[in-house]
Amino acid sequence: MAFSNGAVLVLSGPSGAGKSSLIKKIEKDIGDYYFSISTTTRGIREGETDGVEYHFVDEEEFKKDIENDYFLEYALVHGNYYGTSLKHVKNALADGKLVLFDIDVQGNTAITNRLGDITTSVFITPPTLSELKSRLINRSTDANSAIERRLKMAKKEIQRISEYDYLIINDDFEKAAEKLCLIAKTARLKKPLDKINRLIQEWEDIE
Ligand code: 5GP
Repeated sequence: MAFSNGAVLVLSGPSGAGKSSLIKKIEKDIGDYYFSISTTTRGIREGETDGVEYHFVDEEEFKKDIENDYFLEYALVHGNYYGTSLKHVKNALADGKLVLFDIDVQGNTAITNRLGDITTSVFITPPTLSELKSRLINRSTDANSAIERRLKMAKKEIQRISEYDYLIINDDFEKAAEKLCLIAKTARLKKPLDKINRLIQEWEDIE
């Protein structure tokens, strides 16, 4: 795929790692970006709005979208489907935007496979599992069973940190935001292979 102007920044890490707050903190400093709003079959939480955090749909609609090849990638996470629409991402990349994804490790693999040469990935985590647990309990948006499931998932995901370009341990929010901002700015400098090849060709063509 030729998405010559834009770049991709994938953020992964357990729910409760602080990804959304970090994005909010740096958004004014990273230039024109598009936050990819995923589609999900999970129930809407208090404080969430359809079309803002996610597009909330039922399983039947999600499966229809799979059949219609609507997704760049999708995955079953914590028993619910989550997926990324291809069309919006394509448009944002063509406009030269930095496309931000908040997706799980499976999603990172899929995006890296399809858009690897313009993708930078970063894994964000709280300092310890017990810190993660208390953040999830304090947030109190999930039932106990959901919290347990997220903690189990976090243990699994952490095994795959080495698949990411960067790791941010979010124990000091300001410092973590500073690091993420730097990574986002650097991500924009990544150039797709087609651009590199064109440049090489142009240089070869000059006598
Ligand atoms: P939550 O339900 O807490 O908002 O998100 C649960 C998990 O789903 C998080 O790890 C988040 O990164 C992941 N997720 C959200 N959207 C997508 C998506 O479009 N694709 C994939 N693969 N994972 C997603």
